[in-house]
Amino acid sequence: MPVYEYRCLGCGEEFELFLLGVSEEPRCPACGSTDLRKMVSVPGQAASGCGSSTSGFS
Ligand SMILES: [Zn+2]
Repeated sequence: MPVYEYRCLGCGEEFELFLLGVSEEPRCPACGSTDLRKMVSVPGQAASGCGSSTSGFS
């Protein structure tokens, strides 16, 4: 079940959508715009493990 993350270029709203079919065009739930940018989410890579903080090396 693919879940895609979108960001509206119109109002900056970020939301997730289930893509049930390619015939349906995703819309922003906030403003209804179809001018969206699809963001690729990689599940399992950001939440697993403990090596995400790389800024604390002084
Ligand atoms: Zn919007």
